[in-house]
Amino acid sequence: MTTRRPFVGGNWKMNLTREGAVALARALAGDDPASEALEVALFPAFVHLDAVGATLALARSGLALGAQDCYPEPDGAFTGEVSIPMLGDLSVSAVLVGHSERRHIIGEPDDLVARKCRAVLDAGLTCVLCVGETLDERQAGLTDAVNERQARSALQGADLDDPSRLVVAYEPVWAIGTGRTATPEDAQEAHARLRAVLSDLYDADTAESVRIIYGGSVKPGNAAELFSRPGVDGGLIGGASLDARGFLDICAAARGARAAHGATTP
Ligand code: PEP
Repeated sequence: MTTRRPFVGGNWKMNLTREGAVALARALAGDDPASEALEVALFPAFVHLDAVGATLALARSGLALGAQDCYPEPDGAFTGEVSIPMLGDLSVSAVLVGHSERRHIIGEPDDLVARKCRAVLDAGLTCVLCVGETLDERQAGLTDAVNERQARSALQGADLDDPSRLVVAYEPVWAIGTGRTATPEDAQEAHARLRAVLSDLYDADTAESVRIIYGGSVKPGNAAELFSRPGVDGGLIGGASLDARGFLDICAAARGARAAHGATTP
């Protein structure tokens, strides 16, 4: 039995107009999937955070507001960047750190990911730390080594007084936005190895308390099977989070998996 509260995130990436983002937030809040049994966060583009946050507040929704990135310094000459205090002003409570599109398209290195991870945790927000191997790395048998390197580099020396504020998202790069999904067995194994790394970095209790979620072409049709695996504590959803009904079905799958695991407390 696990006491971890599952987590589902909707990563809207660089999609939607302001009007579309508000409409999607309103539709989700109208059928609010967040509860004691499931934490749900929406990650709109920076420029839509204000409007989406206002929509969630008006609906008194339990959905959390998340940002897709941040800069680790509180202020200064960092043109184009957005600080954590600025996000706090918008009631953002969770931040994606090290998403593969930032690592591999924008070229974000491990040390910058680590600074962001620490800054988010130090600020008291939830850090959704993304790790995962590319197809070449997988084919070279480096999956575990890459996941471990990314997790250790981001978390080494990071204080984790409240383990519920760290969510690790295992996102194999070859599965993101491609329609290819890791098998439930692969996801379970990668999560177990990541949990062992967390145990080594912190301790066994802390590692047991951190949510490890899967991301990579999760859809309503495959969510239940993925989330039913021990140690898979929910998902980070990209494309499928842009459709309200589909995202709500994925949230229902996460709740169902938790009930099946027999958890009774958040
Ligand atoms: C993501 O953006 O983190 C993601 C997993 O995308 P998709 O669900 O579209 O593969």
